[in-house]
Amino acid sequence: MFKLNDHLSFAWNWRRSIRGGREKEEMESLACLIQGVELKSGPDGWSWALESSGKFTVKSLRVKLDEKILSLSHEKTRWNPLVPKKVNILVWRADKDSLATRCNLDKRCIDLHSILCPMCEEDVESLDHLMGRCSWSRNIWNLIFNWWGFSLSGDLDYKYVCNFVNRLSTEKKRMFSPFHLQIFEAVIFTSVWHIWRSRNAKVFRLKESNSCDIFKDVQSLSFCWVSNRCKKFRLDWDLWVNNPMLAISPIV
Ligand SMILES: [Zn+2]
Repeated sequence: MFKLNDHLSFAWNWRRSIRGGREKEEMESLACLIQGVELKSGPDGWSWALESSGKFTVKSLRVKLDEKILSLSHEKTRWNPLVPKKVNILVWRADKDSLATRCNLDKRCIDLHSILCPMCEEDVESLDHLMGRCSWSRNIWNLIFNWWGFSLSGDLDYKYVCNFVNRLSTEKKRMFSPFHLQIFEAVIFTSVWHIWRSRNAKVFRLKESNSCDIFKDVQSLSFCWVSNRCKKFRLDWDLWVNNPMLAISPIV
């Protein structure tokens, strides 16, 4: 090695000259590997290439992993602040069709005794079936939407019910305040949560749930979540169960 402008560089000094063939190849490969390497005088140490300071940070590693692993999406993640994080995460997973429905487990080659819907046993349990087309969940959605003064027609699927608020026409949206629509979306998210929980209770604990009981559970749980997360409005329970649009009044 020799010193040039404060940096140490390599100056080869072999006992005999490099022979051709494998030795020459290894020499070229070594020269290629250390090309651009600059040795500095001072103690040896590790340097983290992802930070200009050379110091390791979890953040820089996280950003690099996200760049490599996560697919790029310009779609905004839906997040309703009136329901808990666990509910938003469940809806996010459902949006990506990542819930462990029997159809999805089968696609991952997991051995199942049946891929039929555990609630009706009439069709394959896909996300769209469980959350919309199934007669069991269809009854729940009818009760929920009627409760809010909306009627459902035609075939239901997951995207239809979950994006119902976003897809309302501008004229329809004008009939409600943005806050009412946000609360109705929170009710829809709560229903997705309850449908998934009731499905799991049937699969893992053989517990049956009828549509009316789930509807009442959605009413009480969404009331609890929304009224506890909403600082500017007050919810009246009696009005909530009869006409939720009238149950919301500003706190003065
Ligand atoms: Zn079904």
